[in-house]
Amino acid sequence: MRDTAGGPRVLLRRLRELMADALDPQKRLDKIVREIAQNMVAEVCSLYVLRADSMLELYATEGLNPDAVHLAQLRLGQGLVGTIAASARPLNLSDAQKHPAFAYLPETGEEIYHSFLGVPVLRAGRTLGVLVVQNRTMRHYREDEVEALETVAMVIAEMIATGDLARLTRPGIELDLSRPVSMTGLPFNEGVGLGHVVLHEPRIVVTALFNEDSDEELVRLETALDSLRLSIDDMLSRRDVAFEGEHRAVLEAYRMFANDRGWVRRLQEAINNGLTAEAAVEKVQSDMRARMMHMTDPYLRERMSDFDDLANRLLRQLMGRGPDALAEILPKDAIIVARSMGAAELLDYPRQKLRGLVLEEGAPTSHIVIVARAIGLPTVGQVKGAVSMSENGDAIIVDGEDGQVHLRPQADVEEAYAEKVRFRARRQKLYQELRDRPTETRDSVPVDLMMNAGLAVDLPQLAQSGAAGIGLFRTELQFMVAAAFPRVEAQERLYSEVLDAADGKPVTFRTIDIGGDKVLPYFKGAQHEENPALGWRAIRLTLDRPGLLRTQIRALLKAAGGRELRMMLPMVTEVSEVRQAREIIDREVRHLSRFGYLLPTRLKLGAMIEVPALLWQLEELMQAVDFVSVGSNDLFQFVTATDRGNTRIADRFDPLSVPFLRILRQIVRAGDQYGTPVTLCGELAGRPISAMALLGIGFRSISMAPAAIGPVKAMLCELPLSDLSVVMDEALANHSASTDIRALLRDFAQKHNIAL
Ligand code: PEP
Ligand code: MG
Repeated sequence: MRDTAGGPRVLLRRLRELMADALDPQKRLDKIVREIAQNMVAEVCSLYVLRADSMLELYATEGLNPDAVHLAQLRLGQGLVGTIAASARPLNLSDAQKHPAFAYLPETGEEIYHSFLGVPVLRAGRTLGVLVVQNRTMRHYREDEVEALETVAMVIAEMIATGDLARLTRPGIELDLSRPVSMTGLPFNEGVGLGHVVLHEPRIVVTALFNEDSDEELVRLETALDSLRLSIDDMLSRRDVAFEGEHRAVLEAYRMFANDRGWVRRLQEAINNGLTAEAAVEKVQSDMRARMMHMTDPYLRERMSDFDDLANRLLRQLMGRGPDALAEILPKDAIIVARSMGAAELLDYPRQKLRGLVLEEGAPTSHIVIVARAIGLPTVGQVKGAVSMSENGDAIIVDGEDGQVHLRPQADVEEAYAEKVRFRARRQKLYQELRDRPTETRDSVPVDLMMNAGLAVDLPQLAQSGAAGIGLFRTELQFMVAAAFPRVEAQERLYSEVLDAADGKPVTFRTIDIGGDKVLPYFKGAQHEENPALGWRAIRLTLDRPGLLRTQIRALLKAAGGRELRMMLPMVTEVSEVRQAREIIDREVRHLSRFGYLLPTRLKLGAMIEVPALLWQLEELMQAVDFVSVGSNDLFQFVTATDRGNTRIADRFDPLSVPFLRILRQIVRAGDQYGTPVTLCGELAGRPISAMALLGIGFRSISMAPAAIGPVKAMLCELPLSDLSVVMDEALANHSASTDIRALLRDFAQKHNIAL
């Protein structure tokens, strides 16, 4: 095997000299590829640059036909070069022509070369091009050579990003960054935000790439890592409300990553190869992002944004820019635009200046989205291209209701949205006025409007919304934002905090509902399942792992010492599961009382009705529990066999239909028959029109997102319930199962002047 001539340090030094020379960009590139070829003892070195039309154009070559420069081109995904660009991963082949993706470009004359090493040119996780070396002989490039070529690719990425190569690009293919653009994503949190773009990933541009002295840089890295770890410890030790609850869990995850040996070792290697500490952080992060970008595993993707967040913090440490500086330059109506971001990073922004959030990635269950929802930020996710289309300071509108983002909107669009915001503000005021009125229908039927919650940041909403209590506390959210299973003390702390905030109002804690789409990154027992929604989840999982359930029950019992405790079991399929859970609870109660703990004054156990099998066990179920709560999100998905997360079929079947409402009414009637309270806590409770249907078929308690309480209460106060009940009974009783219930409800509302 041959040796490289001088290694990466020498090469980087040569590149630095070339960058400093006053050369025209093409000449500079030509020299760079020659220098790389010589240094790596390769016969060929070529650079392909990715254009905005997704073509990879040959920009410079040493060894291939020079006439092919700016003529030879490949589509993204085509040939070896296209494959590298599309996958953002290197290819190291001793016989390139045997590779199934090999595509021969006759204009380049590359048929005589066998070995091939190509690496993506990456910046902030985006592929900007591909850098290739080739040799005639069949050889396999060593790991350190791959590493060296990746480091050089980073320097080239900088040249592309700073516009040095722009003069070589033919006109008409760049993105036009001044036109209005409307983009569609997925609505992650409702509300409308008008404001100005703040590109998250502050794109701290690392300009000092090459180090003078590796040892000095290693010391700088170590110092910055130390202060990073200290600042995390410091935040963790503060007794500030903002740092409690889930923020704390996220920080604990960061502390773990900041001590990750693999990460630190890769940073040190990059410095030893000649980069500055900043450039090393950028390089390691870029490689990692590119490698993980194509992974669909939610655990790995979530870890990626945590590492991204951490890398940004480290960069800020190295460059002496703290989060305070960030807050100062923020406009007062900031709309954060990010590819993805860590939950703690969002909490770093001053909340009063935030108007919305736009993410290129994200899922309804990712940490960032959970936190955005908890602080009431209009959020749209999965907006492809949002970051590259936006510039800091651009006007932008986020419509979290229909998943629209309008960038640099025209005056009429802006005016229409401004009106929408004013309208919402007026409604908000109306809801506040309603807050202290009794929650009863026009014909004086009292109804309990409860709120759903799951994080400490949700708690202030209890007073603000005027909810009668917490009808569903999703305890799994604490588990989902943590880096490891929350210890019994942490669980107890959260539950006491919730009960304190509720101040005597009822709170129903649902035992952890994990599995399905709610993935716990650190839970090793979970395996890939073909149909996770129908798999090992919720009560099934916790009965198989009673240690988990026991710990949670213990935390709940202790937190509720001296007060009432309401617990609810998710995804019950057979009544026997309730009995098994009750046995575990009883055992814990006996255990705690033996050790003299203060026990809850009353203990109520309920079951969620989410699995259709329970519909044929209602009699037995109603006698086995103290209350039931319909999880309409899951019940509807299982009754209609429609995946609740699949947007393609999201509107195909209507829960406000005769069959589904008949099922719900059957549950209410069974509850009445056995004197077992029935409530409903799925999304259905939170829309005025569906809440109206629920009241019409007999529900007297429903639980919803806090923001929905105002609109539902406004509807309810105008509702002549006994009239509606007659209409609903009539509609569900006879004839056709295809009666348009939605139209019927709208007519009723219009006739009685009810705003829906
Ligand atoms: C439901 O299924 O309706 C429910 C409330 O539970 P989750 O949405 O948490 O699955
Ligand atoms: Mg459910």
